[in-house]
Amino acid sequence: MGSYQRGKLLQVNANGLYCEQADVYIDPWRPVERAIITHAHADHARWGMKYYLCHHHAKPILKLRLGQDENVQGLAYGEEVTMNGVRISLFPAGHIIGSAQVRLEYKGEIWVFTGDYKLINDGISQPYEQLQCHHFITESTFGLPIYKFPSPFEIYAAMNDYWKQNRADGYNTVLLGYSLGKAQNILGHIDPSIGNIYLHGAVANTNEALASVGYHFPGERVTPETDRSKIVGDLIVAPPSVADGPWLRKMKPYRIAMCSGWMQLRGARRRRGVDMGFALSDHCDWAQLNQAVLATGAEHIYITHGYEQNYARWITEQYGLDAHIFKTLYADSEEDIAEPKEDVLEPKEDIAEPKEDGRDSTNKGLETEKQTAE
Ligand SMILES: [Zn+2]
Ligand SMILES: [Zn+2]
Repeated sequence: MGSYQRGKLLQVNANGLYCEQADVYIDPWRPVERAIITHAHADHARWGMKYYLCHHHAKPILKLRLGQDENVQGLAYGEEVTMNGVRISLFPAGHIIGSAQVRLEYKGEIWVFTGDYKLINDGISQPYEQLQCHHFITESTFGLPIYKFPSPFEIYAAMNDYWKQNRADGYNTVLLGYSLGKAQNILGHIDPSIGNIYLHGAVANTNEALASVGYHFPGERVTPETDRSKIVGDLIVAPPSVADGPWLRKMKPYRIAMCSGWMQLRGARRRRGVDMGFALSDHCDWAQLNQAVLATGAEHIYITHGYEQNYARWITEQYGLDAHIFKTLYADSEEDIAEPKEDVLEPKEDIAEPKEDGRDSTNKGLETEKQTAE
C-alpha cells in the first residue's frame, strides 16, 4: 500500500468515483465489488454492485428499486467504518430521506463527497450537516447565479392555496414530483384536511418502503379498483413521467402543477405543459452552493453534474480556490433521472431542462458541455 499519493484519495475512473486505498466506489455507474451509495435516486444508486453501503433510511428504497436480495448494509449518520485504514462515515446531506455526504479520512487528509444536497431544512429529511475538509466534491446542479429558490415554506402555503382554489372550482389538483424526495416533501407539508389525497403507485411504493423505517405520509394508492368518480376536488401526487399519459387522463377534470427547481426558469412551465409550477428544489441554489463550499474550509474543490466549468471558474476567480471538474454520469437535473422501470410510460429525453430556454444566453453555451457528460 506504499503507493498512496496525497491529494488523490478519490479519483474518477471508468466505473465511477473511486477510493483506491479503501478499494471502494461511491455512487458508481458500472458494476463494481463495493459501493457506498449517497442516496437512492436512480443516477446515484445503480444495479450490479456486489455490496452496497448506505444510510439506514436509504436501505429500504435501495432494496425496493434494486431488489430485496441485494446485499445492502446500513450505516447511521456519524458511524464510522474503516476500510484498509481509510475511515469512512456518512453525514446528512438534506437532499431527501436517507441522503448522505460521504466523509473519508486517511493519514490526516479529509475528503467529503456531498452527493446531492441542499442547505435548507425541508422538515422531512435530516438537515444538512456542514463538515470541514481539505478536499470537497460538490454537485452544482443549480450552479448559476440565476438560481435563487424561494423559501419552501412559502411554496407549501401556495400549494395548499392552489389545491383549495381548484377544489372550489370543481377540479382535482395534480402535483407532479419525483416519487422519491419531492413526493414526500409535498405530502409532508400539504394540508390533508382540505380533501382526499391519492397517490400514483410509484409514490405509494416509496412511501411504503419508508414506513418500514418510521416515516409516515398521508394518501391512498390509486389502483384499478379505485372508483374514479369519487375523486372530485382531491389531490393526486404522481411522478412527472405520467404527464399526458392514460393514467392521468382518468383523473379529469384536473389542474396540474409541476414541482421542481427548474420551475423557477422562465418558460419552464409552458414547456412542460402544466398549469402551474412550484420551484421546490432538493438541491442547493447559487447562494447555498457558495455558502457550503466556503464553510468547508477546503482548498481543493471538485465539481460534478451541473454547470461545472462555469462554477469552477467562479470559485477560482472569486475565492482563489483550486477547482477541478469531475466528469461523472450523474444526471444534471432533478427530473431527467428515470423513474423505476414499471412507471415509465414514455421516453424521458424531452424532459431535460432548461434546454430550450434560448433567451437565456448564460445557459445556452453550457448545454453542449452538459451533453458531453452523458
Ligand atoms: Zn438526488
Ligand atoms: Zn444527483
